[in-house]
Amino acid sequence: MAVIKRALISVSDKTGILEFAKALSGFGVEILSTGGTAKLFRDHGIAVIEVSDYTGFPEMLDGRVKTLHPKVHGGLLGRRELPEHVAAMQQADIPNIDMLVVNLYPFEATVARPDATLEDAIENIDIGGPAMVRSAAKNWQDVAVLTDAVQYEDVLAEMRSTNGATSKATRFALSVAAFNRISNYDGAISDYLSSFNADGTRNEFPGQVNGRLVKVQDLRYGENPHQKAAFYRDLYPAPGSLVTAQQLQGKELSYNNIADADAAWEAVKSFDSTACVIVKHANPCGVAIGASPLEAYQKAFQTDPTSAFGGIIAFNHTLDQATAEAVSKQFVEVLIAPDYTEEALEVFKAKANVRVLKIALPSGGDSAWSRGRNSHDTKRVGSGLLIQTADNHEINVADIKVVTKKQPTPEQLEDLLFAWRVAKYVKSNAIVFCGNGMTLGVGAGQMSRVDSTKIAAIKAQNAGLTLQGSAVASDAFFPFRDGVDVLAEAGATCVIQPGGSIRDDEVIAAADEHGLVMIFTNIRHFRH
Ligand code: 5GP
Repeated sequence: MAVIKRALISVSDKTGILEFAKALSGFGVEILSTGGTAKLFRDHGIAVIEVSDYTGFPEMLDGRVKTLHPKVHGGLLGRRELPEHVAAMQQADIPNIDMLVVNLYPFEATVARPDATLEDAIENIDIGGPAMVRSAAKNWQDVAVLTDAVQYEDVLAEMRSTNGATSKATRFALSVAAFNRISNYDGAISDYLSSFNADGTRNEFPGQVNGRLVKVQDLRYGENPHQKAAFYRDLYPAPGSLVTAQQLQGKELSYNNIADADAAWEAVKSFDSTACVIVKHANPCGVAIGASPLEAYQKAFQTDPTSAFGGIIAFNHTLDQATAEAVSKQFVEVLIAPDYTEEALEVFKAKANVRVLKIALPSGGDSAWSRGRNSHDTKRVGSGLLIQTADNHEINVADIKVVTKKQPTPEQLEDLLFAWRVAKYVKSNAIVFCGNGMTLGVGAGQMSRVDSTKIAAIKAQNAGLTLQGSAVASDAFFPFRDGVDVLAEAGATCVIQPGGSIRDDEVIAAADEHGLVMIFTNIRHFRH
């Protein structure tokens, strides 16, 4: 417990400060204040020492310099338990300041005013306030820092129960809140100033957002031509993530190119074997593994040649000449691979429009699965933001459970695990038929699981592929047996799904009736 003997109070927003200061005086705390705050206290009979009298240095430059003095910062930063600090402070006549109460110049409120000028904004950038807050917050072991009127009552309550002291836990919580405040304040300044072009005109897409997202480029337009857009990246991007891509050739990336490239790259990265993923409108329309990139591509393409037209194609292995030649025969918007052979790049030179992206995968023992993945996903809603940890779950064979009378053969198990991995990257409701390391039919984004199953079967038929003996993955449980009936009729012999429906018994009975193998994963992969 640290007893508060001296407090510095400097607040722009004076809400609740008189009551708080009176209470501090009641504990015998000596109060130091800047001009406006000190005047308010004096007018209300609260004993106060002006910081300028305390330091012997006047407030100057229109208040730009009020508290930027060693006697203030030394008093906040000196470590009470270090003899050298104590001695140095004594020698320089710097007493301890045990509490800091600061709220900052109202920058955010100023720039929110429609008539605010750049000059108004600049004058409302607080300098000494944040400097003191940082000093006090850094030295939280000894100093309590209050940056918001809502904290006053809780701190007083603690002081009442401890004879005028604060606890370590409270000081730490106050320090974290203080740094959060400073970060938001600086973020607001950075956002506002970044929103100006050099000629003083405003820029709708600033160079930096919240200090944590940095602009990569303006985009010609958004998802549709009437929408405006820009592309931002994390200040510190994960190695192997899409934003680290190097564009080797081709037209400028569009909004939809980037979104689809990310979908393709995230999916292909999840495979350890040589894989190819073709994406259209955020969904994989062909995924395959093969002995070579060429084989993987040819199999992936076979799934749905119609949809693959104008697709985004991603590989997780170096692209060679043979694959480049095969890919060049189709209309492709974007190609992504960790690397390209010289010969492969030569092939693409003849197709100048094709956007060729190289994304170095981080080396090291990491499994492909975990390379460069986002830790969190976000989604805008109304005036809010949904945040969740990313769906980075990797299936563990030990956790899955065969629920039917029939057990899977090793080949079936392999196909099921492949199908399950693909289903994770397909929009819900997702039904994915697979066999021999390739997708055979993908049913995506339907509101009913039966419809997704029917669509997947129709697509396989259109591509001339047989579903006899195929494996199927469903991203979420079958609510009724009807979906199982449809996939059995289509020729599937094994199914992987989370399970967990109240009608699981009915669904398992249907699987047994059709002589299917069914596996429960206990994990769901909704993707919206
Ligand atoms: P007062 O109304 O007491 O004169 O001023 C309070 C405000 O001054 C607070 O918002 C505080 O953050 C700010 N402040 C304190 N010291 C300094 C300084 O040295 N420079 C600037 N620009 N602002 C300061």
